[in-house]
Amino acid sequence: MDCIFCKIVNNEIPAKKVYEDEHTVVFHDINPIAPVHLLAIPKKHIASIYDAQPEDKELIGHIHIALQKVADEMGISESGFRIVTNKGEHGQQTVFHLHFHLIGGRQLRWDM
Ligand code: AMP
Ligand code: ZN
Repeated sequence: MDCIFCKIVNNEIPAKKVYEDEHTVVFHDINPIAPVHLLAIPKKHIASIYDAQPEDKELIGHIHIALQKVADEMGISESGFRIVTNKGEHGQQTVFHLHFHLIGGRQLRWDM
């Protein structure tokens, strides 16, 4: 499948990975909007949060629990952060493999 995030999972294109386990990979966004801007993805290809199925419930929870550890490692647990996932045109989704942005390291506004 021609999906850049599947290629990152399969190490076919490089990424600065900070965390990996059986179900998820977390890596630096190539175009960061804050001092910490990571992307957490399932290894399984799911096009967006809207495309997640009931059987993906545990997987999605797993990713968020992994992100707690990553936030600790990045030193942003105390100062705070934002987790965002975009869906479709109005959400400004540009990569159609589910990903959660972990953004922090500076004061965020609602419009970022
Ligand atoms: P979204 O607009 O929510 O679909 O987010 C896609 C994100 O993926 C953007 O923030 C891009 O900067 C980021 N991105 C695109 N290609 C890569 C890549 N090869 N490695 C890391 N991040 C990427
Ligand atoms: Zn994919």
